[in-house]
Formats: sequence, structure tokens, C-alpha cells
Amino acid sequence: MNNEYDAVVVGSGPNGLSAAIVLQEAGLSVLLLEAKDTVGGGLRSAELTLPGFIHDVCSAIHPLAAGSPFFNKLPLQQQGLKYVYPKIAAAHPFDDGSSALLQGSVDETAAALGEDGSAYADLLAPLVKSWPAMAPDVLAPLHFPKHPLDMAAFGLNALRSATSLADKFKTAKARGLWAGMAAHSIQPLSNLATSAIGLVLLATGHLKGWPAPVGGSIQIANALAGYFLSLGGKIQTGVHVRAMSDVPTAKAILFDLTPKQILDIAGERFSPLYKWQLERYRYGMGVFKIDWALDGPIPFKSTEAREAGTVHLGNTLEEIASNELGTSRGQHVEKPFVLLAQQSLFDSSRAPAGKHTALAYCHVPNGSTVDMTAAIENQVERFAPGFKDLILAKHTMNTKEVEAYNPNYIGGDINGGVIDLAQLFTRPALRPSPYRTSSKGIYICSSSTPPGGGVHGMCGYHAAKQTLKDIFQINTSL
Ligand SMILES: Cc1cc2nc3c(=O)[nH]c(=O)nc-3n(C[C@H](O)[C@H](O)[C@H](O)COP(=O)(O)OP(=O)(O)OC[C@H]3O[C@@H](n4cnc5c(N)ncnc54)[C@H](O)[C@@H]3O)c2cc1C
Repeated sequence: MNNEYDAVVVGSGPNGLSAAIVLQEAGLSVLLLEAKDTVGGGLRSAELTLPGFIHDVCSAIHPLAAGSPFFNKLPLQQQGLKYVYPKIAAAHPFDDGSSALLQGSVDETAAALGEDGSAYADLLAPLVKSWPAMAPDVLAPLHFPKHPLDMAAFGLNALRSATSLADKFKTAKARGLWAGMAAHSIQPLSNLATSAIGLVLLATGHLKGWPAPVGGSIQIANALAGYFLSLGGKIQTGVHVRAMSDVPTAKAILFDLTPKQILDIAGERFSPLYKWQLERYRYGMGVFKIDWALDGPIPFKSTEAREAGTVHLGNTLEEIASNELGTSRGQHVEKPFVLLAQQSLFDSSRAPAGKHTALAYCHVPNGSTVDMTAAIENQVERFAPGFKDLILAKHTMNTKEVEAYNPNYIGGDINGGVIDLAQLFTRPALRPSPYRTSSKGIYICSSSTPPGGGVHGMCGYHAAKQTLKDIFQINTSL
């Protein structure tokens, strides 16, 4: 049988786009299929509230994109991608109006942490130094690393629970800052390996900042898609793949989808063991998200928080840990940990003159339909009295609506499956290559594979490399 394409990629999130680029760069004929009318997956922006207010529908802040070893080798600037870098990457305000900050160098951040400054520098300085060389090792499937000593030093801290690593700090300020970073793991902070994401976010913050693309996160998708098309790649939107018969024939098919969806589409092609493994893949907590159109900037009590791109609202480590634990046990807590981004402060294209946008989300039990608007807005008001008076319009999404928008967010899980110790290295299944399925020519390239969630494209990059090696006998390097 003649194949219509060498390779077809199903799903155009950052990982699908990255996989398609790697395959097209290798000289193959590649088709990218996308269910929605535009490409991008978690990288889309839209006027969700009022005309002239541009909101990021999903992903908003991009330290992982700016630090991605794969994205950084692509000519994305030539495709129009431009980041804006808030001077204060992240602020963590407290009830007394003070805040802890991730800003600038390790020394700058440490100096503001007073008594805990040296503990912070001891933890972060070696990692920041080794990160540029080590990042390709960390953002990859399990393998023997090129920098084994640096990796071992990183692993010793990264594999610890965030609550135990917090013992390095004495002050509420440093412990709170740390808890806010580690809470991006979307797990109870007492779980092993919840320190990994906290360390990566701090290190990339010191090296690259926490930028947002000018014009919205859709600009990253547009730049990736523009480059793919410039190489001769083909894109078809509006094609929702429900069965293998919906996919044109190709030597290789890569799914930028999660195991639950792939089982529905291609399950009958898989071995009983592999099917059994995918059926046991676990999804984690979901998110409830709000976007606001605002009549002015958010009046945080902490003046530094008014200048930060991202603000973590949860007060002390103890409060954040207790609320994340409650959520993981199925509760809808009164004072959830809130992640807030205020991009219009740094990018005037996001809102009409004098007006602003902001987004916030909190973690909720998987599949929750509870409206968390009041809980989130109360948390913002707690640290920014007068905030509620500025709201001109809002748009909310519970977990069902998040999943309806993008079927990859199963039950509102934005990481394509929980990233706990058991699924850190073996997502989506324990196999020699996590990207290869049991069916020859079918691969998985989404965030359900290593290194997991976030906008960095590294899952797609590694899946495509594996495909090139297995099916086309082509070896590539970064
Ligand atoms: C509210 C929210 C906030 C976030 N914030 C951040 C952030 O600030 N920074 C960050 O780095 N990450 C963030 N993320 C996570 C990030 O968006 C994801 O980790 C990332 O998009 C995963 O990329 P992916 O390519 O694996 O899949 P996705 O981006 O989910 O893309 C999958 C694509 O496949 C398409 N698709 C699904 N099913 C089918 C089908 N059957 N047929 C055809 N097409 C299909 C979907 O429409 C989608 O376009 C956030 C996510 C959410 C929801």
C-alpha cells in the first residue's frame, strides 16, 4: 500500500508542533492534523471577556519555553515571536503586605530573603550554574546523562518532597516562596519528587526570567506553525480524529494526545499488556480558571507584587500545603492556592489603554464542576483590597469546560497525567522507549511522555527522534 505521507502528527499543541518540525526538518513529508480550527493546543489567546482584551486561554507564562533546548535552536524570532520579561518574575505576597520575590540573579533573590539568603544561594547557585549544560538531560526520558555528577546532585534534591526540602529554610518568607514554586507540581507537597518542578522553575527563572509572548501565548504556536510550514509541512485543522480510519496512511503516526484518548482511537492495535498499562495511567487534580477584564492594575498591598508577571497567592507554606492536600483528597477548599498572571502590565497589546487583563487558576479535584470564582476572587482581594471593584467582565472554566476546550485536559488535568514519582520516568508506561507504543509505527508525543507537562516541546522532540530512528533509520542530535 502506498502511504499518503511519511508521517502524520495528530494534535497541534507545542509537542505536536515540535514533533512535526523535527520530522519535517529530516526531509520527510509530514501532515499535522488538529481538531480545532486553529493550531496551538494549550497555546491559544482570545478575546474571552470584552473586545480588545486578549486572554491566554490556557498557558500564559513561559520559563520552560524560553529555556527549551529545542525551541532555542529554532528560528522562532524570525517567525515573529517576541517575549516580554517582567523584571520581577514572580512575587509571593503575605498577609502583612510583604512579599518574597523571584527576581534577577540568585544573589539578588537571596539578598532579599535575609536570614535564609545563604540557604537559598546554597540550593540554587550550583543548579543555575549547571542547568544550561544539564537541561537536555533533565528534559528527556530516563537515560545515562552526559553530566552524571550534576544530575546526581540535582536528583538528590529534586526527588525529595517539597515539605522536606523546605527544612533548609527557617523563615516564613523563604518557605512560602518555595511552596508556591513546588505547588506547580499539582500534588500534595509532601509527595516525593514535588521539589523537582520547584527547582526547575527557580533555576530557569534566574537564567531566563519568566516571560510572556507579546500578543499572547498563541504567538508561540504561530511561530512554530509558521516555521513548520516554511519547511514544506502541511497542516489540516478542523479534523477531529476519532478512529485510525480518520488518519491518512503513513509510515508513522504520532499522537499529541493522552493515553485515554489514544486507547479510544487505536486501542485495538495494541498488545493486551500495553493496553493494560495505558488503562492504568493516572490523571491528577484539575484546574478552575478565571480571566478578568479589569479597569486598572491589581492593587496588591505589596508594591513588588504590582510589578511581577506572576503572583502566587497562598500565604505560608503550611497554608498552601494543607490546602493542596485537601484538594488532592477531593475537597473544595475555602482558601485555595491561586496562580495569577498579569501580562497586560508588560504588554500593552493585551488590553485597551488604561485597562488590564489578568488570569488566575486554582487546583480542584479531577472532574470538579464546583464554581471556584468566589474562592479565587476572595484570595486576590485578601492580598489586593479593592480588586473586586475593578472587574469589568470575567470568563470562567471549570474542569469539564477546560476538557471540552481541549480533550487532552482529562478531568481538568493540565499536565497530561499526574507527574508523581511513579509516573515521572515511566509515563505513559514502563517501556524501553516511552514514546513507542506496542504497535509498529504508532508513537505518543504529548505531555503524557517525558519530561511531562508545560510548554517546552521536549516530549514532541524526543518522540520524533525515536520515530526517525525506528522507522526511517535516521539519527539526529539536538
Ligand atoms: C489553564 C492552564 C494554564 C496553563 N499554564 C501554563 C503555563 O503558564 N506555562 C506552561 O508552560 N504550561 C502551562 N499549561 C500547560 C500547557 O498548556 C500544557 O502542558 C501543554 O499545552 C501540553 O502540550 P501538548 O502538546 O502535550 O498538548 P496540548 O497543548 O494539550 O495539545 C493537544 C492538541 O491536540 C488536539 N486534539 C485533541 N484531541 C484530538 C483529536 N482526537 N483529533 C485531533 N486533534 C486533537 C487539541 O485540540 C490540542 O490542540 C497550562 C494549561 C492550562 C489548561
